[in-house]
Formats: sequence, C-alpha cells, structure tokens
Amino acid sequence: MRINSGIYWVSWANINAKNSKSLDDLASPFKENVTEFINALKDAGASVRINATRRSQKRAYLFHWSWLIALGKIKPSQAALETGVDINWNLGDDSSSVQAAKEIVNGFGLAVPPHSNVAPSLHSNHIIGKAIDMDITWTGTVNVAKKDGTKLNVHYTNNARNNPELLLIGESYGVYKLKTDKPHWSYDGR
Ligand SMILES: [Zn+2]
Repeated sequence: MRINSGIYWVSWANINAKNSKSLDDLASPFKENVTEFINALKDAGASVRINATRRSQKRAYLFHWSWLIALGKIKPSQAALETGVDINWNLGDDSSSVQAAKEIVNGFGLAVPPHSNVAPSLHSNHIIGKAIDMDITWTGTVNVAKKDGTKLNVHYTNNARNNPELLLIGESYGVYKLKTDKPHWSYDGR
C-alpha cells in the first residue's frame, strides 16, 4: 500500500534512508583505497574529517522527484517508481500534490531557485559508494607516503584542488579530486 506524499516521508527517510559518514559503507576497492590514503595522511600528522561517504539511493529519489513536482517541472503522475519507497506522489489534484511535495522539499531543506536551478541528482558516485567528502587539514608541511612508499612534502593549502602534491598522493591510491567541489574525492574524479 502506498503512503501519500508529504512531510511523513522526511521522517521516514531519517530512519530508513540515512546517508553515511562511515568508510565501512563504501564499495570495494574504493573503500580500501581511500582508507589507505587517509591512513597515510594521518600517519604524516594531518587531520581528516569525513563529512559524507555513501548516500542513500532512496533518499536521493525522494529529493529528486519532490523537487521536480514542488517546482511544477513535471506532473505528479510522471514521477518514477523506486523499489522500497512506496510513496504516492499523485494526490488526485495538482495543487494538493504540489503542496505535499513542497513539504518534503522544505523538510529536507533542499536548495531551490535562486540558490539552485537543478533538481538534486539521482546519480552520484556517493550513491554507489565510490565518493567521499572530507576536510584534510594540517599546519605547515607534512611528509606523506604515496602507495609505492615514496614520500612527498606537502605544503598546506586551503583548497586541495590547488595542491598538486596532495592530488598526486591521492591518485597513487586511486582517489581522485573533483576540482569543482571542495571536499569531494572519488574513484574517477567525478
Ligand atoms: Zn561529494
């Protein structure tokens, strides 16, 4: 039985479709690769704070379709189905359906125009467990081991994208920076 769209689904997702900050929830071999990279950084004296690892596909599904319906980009009847998320998007008339979708958008605090003009994505390396958002900090210079054991001196920069040595070290472990997203690293740089 389907449950009607509305604020209920935010509470539901906060229990049943949570995002993770744990390395254990990543997919192999990215999990092992990024763990080795982080250990090398910590061994050299850097601090690593993980903000996100795997994102829930069910949560992303609710983000995506609630946004499109709330903003009138699609008809409620056009939303795709998602196994394990038995939501009824179409409450019979458009204004009720839009209002219910807005409850979900607001409940999750999704960015809407003018802050964001694109729907939250259904596709992300976070969803397949192959991306991580992390803050890497240290003071001055650290000497970090690459995968092959050779070490590089790395001077601190506020944004990892501007740190060629840090990027080389990450790449040696199979962890690539997405340069347009400050904390984001993944298995393919996306
Ligand atoms: Zn990310």
